[in-house]
Amino acid sequence: MSLFSAVELAPRDPILGLNEQFAADTNPNKVNLGVGVYFDENGKLPLLQAVQKAEAALQANPKARGYLPIDGLATYDQGVKELVFGKTSEPVTSGRIATIQAIGGTGGLKVGADFLHNLNPAAKVLISNPSWENHRAIFQKAGFEVGTYAYYDAATRSIDFNGLLADLNAAAAGTVVVLHACCHNPTGYDLNEAQWDQIIAVVKAKSLTPFLDMAYQGFSQGLAEDGAVIGKFIAADLTFLVSTSFSKSFSLYGERVGALSVVTQDKEEAARVLSQLKATIRTNYSNPPTHGAAVVAHVLGNDELRALWEKELGEMRVRIKAMRHKLVEGLKAAGVTQDVSYITTQIGMFSYSGLSKEQMVRLRNEFGVYGTDSGRICVAALNEHNVTYVANSIAKVM
Ligand code: PMP
Repeated sequence: MSLFSAVELAPRDPILGLNEQFAADTNPNKVNLGVGVYFDENGKLPLLQAVQKAEAALQANPKARGYLPIDGLATYDQGVKELVFGKTSEPVTSGRIATIQAIGGTGGLKVGADFLHNLNPAAKVLISNPSWENHRAIFQKAGFEVGTYAYYDAATRSIDFNGLLADLNAAAAGTVVVLHACCHNPTGYDLNEAQWDQIIAVVKAKSLTPFLDMAYQGFSQGLAEDGAVIGKFIAADLTFLVSTSFSKSFSLYGERVGALSVVTQDKEEAARVLSQLKATIRTNYSNPPTHGAAVVAHVLGNDELRALWEKELGEMRVRIKAMRHKLVEGLKAAGVTQDVSYITTQIGMFSYSGLSKEQMVRLRNEFGVYGTDSGRICVAALNEHNVTYVANSIAKVM
């Protein structure tokens, strides 16, 4: 009898499971479109020039690695605020945003979830149907009951906006609503400006608690354009939370660079909120790591490197869009007659292909093309060398 005899095997992460299966696959043409990672035109994970130059600059002036403050590197937190809310925006200049450095976007969501649960344990959380699979787990582990609001309508291949509004309208005051700021994962369907305005009106009328997840800023239209939705919440005079991830936009997945920002009513309230965020962090991991935040802060604070980063981010964004077009062309060339224009309507790293689980399994087993069972494929992993093969494979299972 061991201490741990009663421990059950936890279900394995579906995406990591796919990766293992992919690694073991001996098909020479295999393509991994399962994981949400951007690969360059040669199928390689990029190391951005802006990051390399920032690392060289940091290396030229090496610093001892003391503990960071609990809320992270001050220049990083300031850089996040300016990027997400705008340098001269009123909430930034008046000091009413509490920002903490977090362990990736996931960490930002988790610190925010713990903070909100301490504040209002009886509140419910609503995530989109479907959503990034970790949203539900993060908020449940923080103690919340998690439900969904309508989002994707498979029949029309579009957002069920009436359903979404009805679900938000029916939510009790204080309900936490997790919204994808841009590049919705997994569907690739984003809300338009008018729809955001309507959501904001409901959030305000019903006193809901908006939590914006910003994991792909810069991958839809551009940094400022994608950030505009945040400006709408500010203009509506709402208080809300925003999690940030630089995993994709800086290609710094393994450095775990993210943040949480809480927009409060005034500076004094921000100080109280910050003290609670710090208490949460202190009892979880004490304080965050140095390297990734130092790199990002250096790039954000240096005009030349900032411009280089924006250029490189723009190249990633443009390349993904080009691959969407190539995929559509490839499907047509392979004889697909169905309307596949949804592939170029969708935005960001993912496409909900509309393929069934059986078709996704066939794609994997017969062609070595790996996507999730839900039919999600990562278009950011397509390139000139594999897109025709992927298109031909999809055409064969369609
Ligand atoms: N939110 C969404 C919607 C995501 O897709 C991801 C990453 N896949 C995250 C949050 C987490 O980001 P990170 O890897 O920085 O923790």
